[in-house]
Amino acid sequence: MSSTTKIATIRTYHLRDHLEEPFGFSQWYYDTRNTLWVEIVAEDGTAGWGECYGPSEVYQTAIDRFYAPRLLGQDALATDRNWQLMWRASLDFARGGVMMGAMSGMDMALWDLRGKILNQSVCEMMGGRHSDTVPCYATGMYFKEMPEDDLIRSIVDEASTYQQQGFAALKIKVGKNPNFDTQQVESLRHALPDMTMMADSNHAFDLPEAIRMGRVLEANDFRWFEEPLSPEFENQFRQLQDKLDIPIATGECEQTRFGFERLLRTGGVQIAQPDLAYCGGPSEALKIRTLASAKGINVIPHAWGTMLNLASATHFLASGYREPGRKEIDALMLEYDRTPNALRDELFDIPVVVENGVATVPTGPGLGVIVNEQKMQSFVVNQTELKV
Ligand SMILES: [Mg+2]
Repeated sequence: MSSTTKIATIRTYHLRDHLEEPFGFSQWYYDTRNTLWVEIVAEDGTAGWGECYGPSEVYQTAIDRFYAPRLLGQDALATDRNWQLMWRASLDFARGGVMMGAMSGMDMALWDLRGKILNQSVCEMMGGRHSDTVPCYATGMYFKEMPEDDLIRSIVDEASTYQQQGFAALKIKVGKNPNFDTQQVESLRHALPDMTMMADSNHAFDLPEAIRMGRVLEANDFRWFEEPLSPEFENQFRQLQDKLDIPIATGECEQTRFGFERLLRTGGVQIAQPDLAYCGGPSEALKIRTLASAKGINVIPHAWGTMLNLASATHFLASGYREPGRKEIDALMLEYDRTPNALRDELFDIPVVVENGVATVPTGPGLGVIVNEQKMQSFVVNQTELKV
């Protein structure tokens, strides 16, 4: 191992921004945005950046106190080896959950770092740049505290804005209550007859409710029904899919190839949605894609958070393929969260550029997005540093 590729320093940054207007979904409302960023620096000073999806304070402790001491001095280029090292260190008490989320941010930072050291972009290291652009779908239409009639009007207005911005697809929230959900879906389809639409309940329904909601979505030509059921009731997915024609998408709460193997084995999931900042990182997402491919299932990452995770998902899709594939086929779409987030939109000198509903795949080394560390500092709640 060249001494320049040894991991020399690991820093974490807990960033927070308060929202002017809270927004919600079936489970709760957000009034702040938080993220945990990881910076892994090699001995030559090259730095890679990663992001964890979930509770930032917990991630900060997990990385600073548990994983970082084990990775210092290791070969920065050995992403799989480092993943195994972290996995075996925590396997006995954490086969998943926040420890795996912490590993995900570490792994993402290591992919960014490896790309910068080797002067290759992440999609090239993932197998090749199949495409220079990735079509996006706009995620938004969250709930707000207002009378339901007003909320539906507001959601239809928001969706129309995305259409005017050039998006051909969008995803809404369902799971507020059955009357609202149905009225919302019908109003949107009436207002935007040509828009590709998906709906996400964030595991809000029991099986009979999910069947009824799925039929409403089918009648309104929705493309997929996301997280219709609790991730704990894996076998209900097959029961639901047997009743519906609309494809079922899920997986943002799932982790590792082992978790996805159990989930996909049910035969009730048509689209797998690991989050690269939670599922085990880019390394594990590639293994999940291979596993899904062997079952004829496509992987469309869940992407929430900042440009680090968005860039990771963009590279993942740009290096991907569709099962079973054919000459004339629509590309898999990148999730592009449109809810307010200064941590995503204000802290990058080079972001993932999205125009007319299409993302340009970054061409710089690693993730190809550049953090503005000066701007970042005004959002830092707490930071840590560990050196060799
Ligand atoms: Mg979702």
